[in-house]
Amino acid sequence: MIRKIEHLGIAVNDMEKANRLFSMLLNKEPYKSEAVESEQVNTSFFMLGETKVELLSATGEASAIAKYIAKKGEGIHHIAMDVDDIDFEINRLRAAGFEVINAAPKDGADNKRICFLHPKSTGGVLIELCEEKKQL
Ligand code: ZN
Repeated sequence: MIRKIEHLGIAVNDMEKANRLFSMLLNKEPYKSEAVESEQVNTSFFMLGETKVELLSATGEASAIAKYIAKKGEGIHHIAMDVDDIDFEINRLRAAGFEVINAAPKDGADNKRICFLHPKSTGGVLIELCEEKKQL
């Protein structure tokens, strides 16, 4: 089941500057900063009620965020949806004709298993499915 919008991902050039801007905008500090080395990104999370804002900056030229900003500039990069069973949703969406970027969920920031759907199959919106990792 897709339960809610878990977070909005925003691509930024300068994390320090963006953290200051969003701290002022939301009137709170980020609750977490985390590097995801496999994606070559730094992330910063702000809690906003039931959902979150995730700032993403590139740490290398091969990063999808670097490529995104070079092409489109800073701004909303993806919408992440919280799911209770990511493997089920991946199978369901593939069967319905959606194109997944990684069919095997990978580790994302903030203790999640994640999968991206290709924007060309979702009306131009990069969608991230994320499932909170269960504590073993
Ligand atoms: Zn995200």
